[in-house]
Amino acid sequence: MAFEGLTERLQNALSGLRRKGKVTDADLRETMREIRMALLEADVNFGVVKEFVRNVREKAAGAKVLDGLNPAQQIVSIVNDELTAMMGEAAVPLNKSAKIPTVIMMVGLQGAGKTTTAGKLALKLKTEENARPFMIAADVYRPAAIEQLTTLGEQIGVPVFELGTQVDPREIVKQGLAAAAEAKADYVFIDAAGRLQIDEALMQELVDVKEIAQPDEIMLVVDAMTGQNAVETAEGFDQRLDITGVTLTKLDGDTRGGAALSIRAVTGKPIKFVGQGEKMTDLDVFYPDRMASRILGMGDLLTLIEKAQKDFDEKEAEKQMEKMKSNTFDFNDFIAQLDQVQNMGPLEDILKMIPGMANNPALKNAKLDPKDMDRMKAIVYSMTPSERENPDLINPSRRRRLAAGSGRPIVEVNRMIKQFNEMKTMMSKMMNGNTAGMEQMMNA
Ligand code: GDP
Repeated sequence: MAFEGLTERLQNALSGLRRKGKVTDADLRETMREIRMALLEADVNFGVVKEFVRNVREKAAGAKVLDGLNPAQQIVSIVNDELTAMMGEAAVPLNKSAKIPTVIMMVGLQGAGKTTTAGKLALKLKTEENARPFMIAADVYRPAAIEQLTTLGEQIGVPVFELGTQVDPREIVKQGLAAAAEAKADYVFIDAAGRLQIDEALMQELVDVKEIAQPDEIMLVVDAMTGQNAVETAEGFDQRLDITGVTLTKLDGDTRGGAALSIRAVTGKPIKFVGQGEKMTDLDVFYPDRMASRILGMGDLLTLIEKAQKDFDEKEAEKQMEKMKSNTFDFNDFIAQLDQVQNMGPLEDILKMIPGMANNPALKNAKLDPKDMDRMKAIVYSMTPSERENPDLINPSRRRRLAAGSGRPIVEVNRMIKQFNEMKTMMSKMMNGNTAGMEQMMNA
């Protein structure tokens, strides 16, 4: 998970302040020194850090924070605002053209995730706006880039125009745009050439393609894991192409996060999307304010709620609530719930969006093993339909059969059934307004 080290260090710096009743100027200076170190270590650009620290100090002085009530809390709030400002205040949507189609030119270095992101964005527009995207395979240099885009296109049901690797990309784009018009596409993605590093031939080709395609959006894709290099790449592309937006990929990886924090401030160009995984659905709108509270370990409840809303089947959820209430929740519902939770992504990441959980020591080294869920599912799948509907049927001899059927030890079967029964009782209590169940769960 990105930002882990940074979150921890910022929290340490700020909790030092929180412990003090009265905050002196020297305390503030010390805290800012720690924050400065934390940001530099997270690979945030030096100039950006300097300005950040200056802004926080000025705001704290201007608001006479140290003389006011609860100075520590106010400083946390200023730090939060400044982190948000550094990443760009509000989310910036994809540029759209008044005329159809909107043309989006995807650029970036090899391996940054340009081709993958083109597919993710096309899928997003298709599902969220019912749009008709179209993709042009113009990256003739990276081995297999065209094949990759064609396969992605098939997977997400989006047409891909290609002329192989022997035709000049300028020509591919010209013909591709005509084909897109013919297909009545409303968004055209150009997967332009990537290289291992910025060089003159590449830039000239991209400038020519820009000239031909007159894109509404030039989306630079950069890899968050490359830290300061990502910022330099962004500057390099921006100078020649005047990019209009950035997608930061691989934020699901173990990145220190400096790129996310510096790109906007250094280039003035907005990060519009973040890639958080290899699946086609792992692309999210970039919200600077939410990212700031995530970095400060204050959680990101809004994103969590949105994820839940997107992934949860409302009717199914209502049915389950009813069953919890009437204490008739069965193993079929249990499986449905496990599926829903698994769809939301890695459990550790989800828990960290809950305020206060990011640096919860209990979670620190917890690896919630998705295999545990699969094992539970294997046991449930070994049940007969009537056992799933009537968990009380499952007597010791049936348990032995389940163990053999799922290939899990009998103790695991017993434990799973015990947990299921406890959960069922607790949920029914909670649903019927008995909060003792809730407290029990929190303390478990
Ligand atoms: P391109 O050369 O820029 O077109 O790069 P690709 O689209 O082929 O991506 C390079 C690799 O990065 C592939 O293995 C992708 O699956 C992977 N990738 C792309 N975006 C993400 C992301 O957000 N998270 C993770 N974990 N992997 C990604």
